[in-house]
Amino acid sequence: MTLSNRAAVVTGSTSGIGLAIARALAKEGANVMINGFGKPEDIEKERAGIEAEFGVKAIHSPADMTKPDQIAGMIAEAEAAFGGVDILVNNAGIQFVSPIEDFPIEKWDQIIAINLSAVFHAMRASVPGMKARGWGRIVSTASAHSKVASPFKGAYVAAKHAIDGLSKTVALETATHGITVNCISPGYVWTPLVENQIPETMKARGLTREQVINDVLLPAQPTKSFVTPEEVAAFVVFLCSDAAKQITGANLSIDGGWTAA
Ligand code: NAD
Repeated sequence: MTLSNRAAVVTGSTSGIGLAIARALAKEGANVMINGFGKPEDIEKERAGIEAEFGVKAIHSPADMTKPDQIAGMIAEAEAAFGGVDILVNNAGIQFVSPIEDFPIEKWDQIIAINLSAVFHAMRASVPGMKARGWGRIVSTASAHSKVASPFKGAYVAAKHAIDGLSKTVALETATHGITVNCISPGYVWTPLVENQIPETMKARGLTREQVINDVLLPAQPTKSFVTPEEVAAFVVFLCSDAAKQITGANLSIDGGWTAA
């Protein structure tokens, strides 16, 4: 196990990619704090399952990523529970699909808060401890939309491009402290986030469900198949290993070739 004696906070990990990342880090021996929303009984099942399956400590933080004080509190709680936060995975994210002229202002604010500002607040709170211990790994789930745009996703594309800039900046600030800071940029991963945007995309483009999947989502990906949450998680585990210590300030694609085109 490559991550024994490490502790990780994974935001937005009650579902989808984040849950797969938390489980993969735990499998490698890391204690994990999961975070996100959902039915309490479902969250408890996942949390207890991680402890039982991998023999690590797992706790859940209900911190809302739109609330800076709750984000700082989440990092402080993890530091107190685990003795430090070695790995921060900024993964919480939401999507909204609409033409710019109809884009609800509150959706813009919410996406910028969760997908971008939360990354700033969590980095700000966890870097001092990482610097003090001389080791840290920060991985933020950006997106192929941190490199290229698609219509109707103004807030999401703006937030994801900005995560790239923030990560590069913090990578430079922490480069001599044993800390790496990277973004990963998945293409389409089959999760509730993708499932839920299908009705909005059907409406925005006047298409059927099958047309959205086959003509909008998958054509972007030369492999013509979805990335899996487990593939993204394995990539994160590698970035958290000692073998990856020279990879910092990078925005790494895992997108079936999408952004090569
Ligand atoms: P998901 O909807 O399955 O999971 C999102 C998670 O974020 C959930 O745990 C949810 O509870 C949590 N969350 C939402 N709002 C929150 C808030 N205010 N505070 C705390 N937690 C909150 O989505 P996913 O597809 O697994 O997406 C995870 C990340 O991956 C996102 O940042 C997304 O932009 C990114 N991403 C997804 C894809 C994809 O195709 N699914 C592609 C590229 C990037």
